[in-house]
Amino acid sequence: MAVVKANAYGHGLLRVARALADTDAFALLELDDAVRLRDAGYRQRILLLEGFFSAAELPEIMHHGFTTMVHAREQVQLLKTQRGGKKIDVFLKFNTGMNRLGFPAGDAANVIEEVKALPCVDKIVLATHFSDAEGVSGIDWQMREFDDHVARPGFGRSLANSAAMLRFPEARGDWVRPGIMLYGASPLEEATALKLGLRPVMTLKSEIIAIQQLKAGDTVGYGSLFSADRDMRIGIVACGYADGYPRHAYNGAPVLIEGIRVPMAGRVSMDMLCVDLTNVPHASVGSPALLWGDGLPIEEVAAAAGTVSYELMCALARRVPVSETD
Ligand SMILES: *Cc1c(COP(=O)(O)O)cnc(C)c1O
Repeated sequence: MAVVKANAYGHGLLRVARALADTDAFALLELDDAVRLRDAGYRQRILLLEGFFSAAELPEIMHHGFTTMVHAREQVQLLKTQRGGKKIDVFLKFNTGMNRLGFPAGDAANVIEEVKALPCVDKIVLATHFSDAEGVSGIDWQMREFDDHVARPGFGRSLANSAAMLRFPEARGDWVRPGIMLYGASPLEEATALKLGLRPVMTLKSEIIAIQQLKAGDTVGYGSLFSADRDMRIGIVACGYADGYPRHAYNGAPVLIEGIRVPMAGRVSMDMLCVDLTNVPHASVGSPALLWGDGLPIEEVAAAAGTVSYELMCALARRVPVSETD
């Protein structure tokens, strides 16, 4: 299934759905977005990753034939109150170590029996989520919990996010849940997207709208964070944190100007950021600036801002115009 939560990781839900129209299933959190997918004509399975939050949502879930994650007692209680309506498929989520959502793995036998007996429940898939699929702890310890307590014949399994799919093919189960890799970013520290054969879907571009000639000792931007150690040219790029560029990106974060890598100078402001043009003497007003994407991995920019590519993608602002290419 294709994970398209958070407006398809900032890429636009319906735009991404069109590109992934052949997927067996979509997975997201937001009920209104699930309805948008159905209304746009997508007939495949749509899984609500956190399920429902109140009884009021159940009639809509049943009406549209959504599949819902069930991860807590309170949700089972709400399902018990349902009379009539279409049966729904359920992904039962068990906690195997993430300690965020899910029934205790040790309760699996009881929970499965109880949910199976509910008149409104059709098929059940057994699910869990890994906390360290990209890290040193890996997934073995959680797989052991799942295999010992949760897995049983006759039920499908849904286990793997992108990192687990890439690092542990043996743990793919029946319903994989890739998100970040669909958008062409690497979830792994040890492997770049390029090395994994992933191509970035999102490229954030702008251009230089002004040039400043600095003298040694001049400073740039709010807080005068950057100070010129010599005479130099600075390019002002029309992109700031109100566009989704991370304000915490440090002095020196990479930007491509005319395809050449240059360091950012000073603090990112709301609508602009500044770059040191020493390495691009031919740059001028109108020169293309590439903030991340094709030619500059988003992971690198994320690292320069102390965050992950996920956050940058999701934070892309509504005011940024989007153009589609194949
Ligand atoms: C977001 C999410 C995923 C996708 O994770 P990626 O790291 O983006 O592949 C998978 N499963 C669940 C339950 C999620 O919430």
